[in-house]
Amino acid sequence: LPVIWLDDRLVPESEASVSYSDRGYYFGDGIYEVFRVYGGHLYEADAHYDRLERSAREIGLGLPYARTEIDDILRLLLEREHVQNGTVYMQVTRGVAPRSHPFPADAKPVMLAYCSDAARPIHMMQTGISAVTRPDIRWLRCDLKTLNLLGSVLAKQEAADQGAGDVILHRDGIVTECSASNLMIVKDGAVLTHPADHLILHGITRAVVLRLAGEQGIHARERAFTLEELRAADEAFLTGTTMEIVPIVQIDGLPVGVGEPGPVTRRLQQSFEATIPS
Ligand code: PMP
Repeated sequence: LPVIWLDDRLVPESEASVSYSDRGYYFGDGIYEVFRVYGGHLYEADAHYDRLERSAREIGLGLPYARTEIDDILRLLLEREHVQNGTVYMQVTRGVAPRSHPFPADAKPVMLAYCSDAARPIHMMQTGISAVTRPDIRWLRCDLKTLNLLGSVLAKQEAADQGAGDVILHRDGIVTECSASNLMIVKDGAVLTHPADHLILHGITRAVVLRLAGEQGIHARERAFTLEELRAADEAFLTGTTMEIVPIVQIDGLPVGVGEPGPVTRRLQQSFEATIPS
């Protein structure tokens, strides 16, 4: 059985249960992170810890451990499970307290963390996926990685019901991101993606890809774009920790560009590959 970090200790999965009164369960009152593991190492760990600390600060949650302690715990899990290529999931809830909306006076935050093997989505990266567009019904702090994911869950289920690989969200015609990844389009050789404001998650893969575009001399801009611009794009792709860079080759049943992964997407995939420690 895999070992799990739960509330200050390592336990076998069979013993990893939480209180019915945890605020994560009642309110989705907590935050999380998903890390990529390549060759036994956490990828872009500092960026993930920065984002975790920012999410915690912005929801008034005191993390139960310092960054270095969290890092030790995650490394311990990786060693115990011998994970070479996979993911680490971790979350912190505001803790156990009688159900009442305001912050409890004395609840202790509860951290859960575990790692799993996960292959890179090579097939999707090579052939691309389809997507459908849907209204973005999530709240107005999508920059925080909180456990309140119902808006994303419902969107992703709609995509699944349509037989699509993912959903592209928009607010009144302005494209934001996908259900669990950021979105970029390419028009006339230039990359466009929504600015890192309160309407999208500030993706770590997104930041890596923007940096790589700069290094490759590919023009990249952070500016909001419309559904019309999305439909007229030459290429589209999503970025995320577990997905890396996945081309979107069909949107709402219509091909993106020629309906195949495009040259700018391919170039960025190759540069991304070079950042992965072997
Ligand atoms: N947007 C949303 C809504 C997400 O859930 C994720 C996945 N964490 C991303 C974007 C991509 O972020 P990252 O590259 O840091 O995984």
